[in-house]
Amino acid sequence: MKQRRLSLALAGAASVVFLVGTSTAAPPQPVAVQEGPTYVYRVPAPLGEKAQDLLARGFDVLEQRDGDDLFVLGSKTTHTRLAEAGFTGQVESVMAPPSAELKTRGYGITETYYGGYRTIRAHYAHLDQVALRHARLATVVDYGDSWRKTQGAGGHDLKAICITRKGPGDCRLTPTAKKPRMFVSAQIHAREITTGDMAWRWIDHLTQGYGKDAEVTSLLDSTEVWVVPIANPDGVRIVQSGGDSPKLQRKNGNYTNGPRECPTTEDPNAQIGVDVNRNFDAQWGDNGTSADPCHQVYRGPKADSEVETRALEKLFRGLFPDTRGPGLTDPADPKTRGMVITMHSALNVVLLPWGYTTTPSPDDGPLRAMARDMAGLAGADWRYGQPGELLYTAGGSIDDWVYGELGVPHYTWEIGNWQGDCAGFLPAYSCQDGHWAKVRPMLTYATKKAANPYGG
Ligand SMILES: [Zn+2]
Repeated sequence: MKQRRLSLALAGAASVVFLVGTSTAAPPQPVAVQEGPTYVYRVPAPLGEKAQDLLARGFDVLEQRDGDDLFVLGSKTTHTRLAEAGFTGQVESVMAPPSAELKTRGYGITETYYGGYRTIRAHYAHLDQVALRHARLATVVDYGDSWRKTQGAGGHDLKAICITRKGPGDCRLTPTAKKPRMFVSAQIHAREITTGDMAWRWIDHLTQGYGKDAEVTSLLDSTEVWVVPIANPDGVRIVQSGGDSPKLQRKNGNYTNGPRECPTTEDPNAQIGVDVNRNFDAQWGDNGTSADPCHQVYRGPKADSEVETRALEKLFRGLFPDTRGPGLTDPADPKTRGMVITMHSALNVVLLPWGYTTTPSPDDGPLRAMARDMAGLAGADWRYGQPGELLYTAGGSIDDWVYGELGVPHYTWEIGNWQGDCAGFLPAYSCQDGHWAKVRPMLTYATKKAANPYGG
């Protein structure tokens, strides 16, 4: 019986392979890379010896268990390897090649979706092109892998670009750098597509302005600017797969803590994945988060469970020394350098730590003063304050990790509009000129502040 179910399941999988084969035989798609489909096998392996044996044999075992069964990722031939090792593998699901589903225009660096938003492929080609054209200014840094990539299921590198007038020792992952560092990231929440476009424009503004624009030249002579244009590429892959109807995926691509698919008749908007911005090891827990794997603010099974979270924390530790004591009431060293911005959408607010509580942080004075300046640069309709003052409190955020762990000022910018034509997560691409006019002065201000943010 087991054998028959296995062969039936494989027959189903084979038809998927056939469909993929058909699509590659069709006229060439703009998206060139076709990774093969990934198979998820259900493998009986009770706790103890059998499970350890499966792991010891090097199978790609997911961190997921259903009774006596474990799950193994592999190719269409992995069931043969499992059988040779004395295991039976039944196909649980087939993950389609990620690029097969894309509805995009252009190719490489010009590849866009939804009227002009750049795909992950375009963003990463952009980073490489900038580093090539501006070799004395820009360095691309691979700081980890997305969850799907760690599973051998497509996925992406996690990439940053360091931009400065390069001198000896610049752009290295050492917290004792000569120049102060300003760091900005986008699309930690995948569907907040405005933010990735702001990152793209900021990279171009700096690299194309150096030597021409006095302010940009001065910024890059004095400061290292780090940009992560897509902090959650697995999530963005889901978003852009909608093409002209982007999918509203907020979280990462890790479905191993709950069902493979989340939408139900009660909640058609439920999603797989962990909210990376609730997963940081900073007051991680139930405050403003959920234990339900399908919930939009699912915090993950434990703090730092996600590769995207851990990779960012490691990157931050490589960029900034820890200047704050361990207590929640310990202020940062007044001479702390650095500035970290996480861009979200879509409101008009600047958020400062703490995020987990409405109690002010020990550096509330200077943090709030800078937030006021930033909001002032963005426009009269912008507000500033702690999340608990303007939205809600939440544990496990990047805000509280960066400030709490390292003492470096962190701001969340909610960019966009909450009403009008350009409101929401998915504004028309033409709205981005207006957003950029507000964000550029804020980014410039944040970069200038990195040398001495607390005024010590
Ligand atoms: Zn967000």
